Amino acid sequence: TSPPEANIGVVGLAVMGANLARNLASREGNRVAVVNRSPERTRTLVDAHPEANFVPAESMAEFAASLTRPRTAIIMVQAGSATDAVIQELAAVFEPGDIIIDGGNAQFTDTIRREHEMRQRGLHFVGAGISGGEEGALNGPSIMPGGSDEAYATVGPIFESIAARADDGEPCVTHVGSDGSGHFVKMVHNGIEYADMQLIAESYDLLRRVGGLEPAEIADVFAEWNTGELDSYLIEITGEVLKQIDTRTGRPFVDVVLDQAGQKGTGTWTVQSALTLGTPISGIAEAVFARGLSSHPEQRLSGARLAGPSTSVELEDRDAFVEDVRQALYASKIVAYSQGFDVIRTAARQYGWRIDPSAIAKIWRAGCIIQARFLGRIADAYRADADLVALVTAPFFADATGRAQDSWRRVVSTAALAGVPAPGFGSSLAYYDGLRATRLPAALIQGQRDYFGAHTYRRVDGPGVFHTEWSGDR
Ligand code: NAP
Repeated sequence: TSPPEANIGVVGLAVMGANLARNLASREGNRVAVVNRSPERTRTLVDAHPEANFVPAESMAEFAASLTRPRTAIIMVQAGSATDAVIQELAAVFEPGDIIIDGGNAQFTDTIRREHEMRQRGLHFVGAGISGGEEGALNGPSIMPGGSDEAYATVGPIFESIAARADDGEPCVTHVGSDGSGHFVKMVHNGIEYADMQLIAESYDLLRRVGGLEPAEIADVFAEWNTGELDSYLIEITGEVLKQIDTRTGRPFVDVVLDQAGQKGTGTWTVQSALTLGTPISGIAEAVFARGLSSHPEQRLSGARLAGPSTSVELEDRDAFVEDVRQALYASKIVAYSQGFDVIRTAARQYGWRIDPSAIAKIWRAGCIIQARFLGRIADAYRADADLVALVTAPFFADATGRAQDSWRRVVSTAALAGVPAPGFGSSLAYYDGLRATRLPAALIQGQRDYFGAHTYRRVDGPGVFHTEWSGDR
């Protein structure tokens, strides 16, 4: 057998794995071994990209033999049982000190379990969230690795070589924390992406149905917004999608697409985790639920019989409305990110991860779907105060939401009066007002709980736990 010559390997050569392998191969100093369950895929990739100088293998044993030590392999296969199967195959041919990286979209709880199992066998296991889709994998993704410090010492430089670069040249990768923290943060990234997309969709809907703008005009509005504080990848591509004309019908693309949004589950996972942690992430939850409602056409068909507003909304000033929607979008987006960072910080406490929220904001500045100019501001806010209780209360964001709030309130009330659903805007504003409230009606809820279940309550005027002997019937 020939001596090992590859410093890094990729297992699983579907679109993500193939692109990541090509990205790795294009960087100085890397030689990349590749293997896939069905060897045809390996052959196709190697034949199509002679410039990559891949080291192909047709079995795991051959793959392991082609890697220098510590052997380092990135798995890019379907999440779930396929990932477990590949981990077991690798573990059988790897030796203590070797490193297995899972770059798929794993559940962070699976990553915690796998890291523990591999550690028992003397192997390093790094769950790394990789964002940016196929384009990112090829040209530079945002990478969110967990795992041990020791493993990061080896994989950090490799990740840095392939990661996207922010405007200041910094690579979009950081050692998020131990075990499953990388996959947790990637999951929340996807959850925030859901919220961001929903808020943008609500903006479009209001501009069209209340503002009376055509898709091409709304495309121009988004292009304009993309030059200011909303500057982001998602705003940019929204403009492109709205500009698109369907070649078959000549109609706007957005009018010929079925209005049922799909999902692969990371949004749901984010909400499930937040529910377990008791952290309100209403913006993300509303986005997941809105996709759910959209995908039930039978319900909506019977719902179409329900009454709508008896009077229509007449706008006095269309330009002012467009600006109100922009402000509402910005403020709601701040809330969505605030809630996303909140759940990351709560999880870090719960699972014992040392996560620097400022570093997370920085690695999301490029390479990933939610890349946006204001992530730099988020990084600044957490750098100034690492213990920030809620991002929205940081001076920069408190100012921004403070300036936006009148617009935000007008948009939410206009949406309600016009009968246009805007659950993202509405719930974000409710969260904001909930944070602001010096007194919440939770006091009444405590009274109800004590009445029917003797759940007790605490008082505003001193310590202790109390129960009242309620006289009414149960
Ligand atoms: P995929 O469709 O999720 O998975 C296909 C790959 O998995 C193929 O290489 C397939 O091998 C392999 N595979 C499936 N079952 C297997 C098993 N039991 N044993 C060994 N190999 C098995 O591929 P993908 O879209 O490239 O995504 C890869 C990972 O990246 C996934 O975890 C995905 O969630 C994540 N991800 C994807 C994107 C994206 O934009 N697509 C973005 C971020 C993250 P065969 O060729 O032999 O069938």
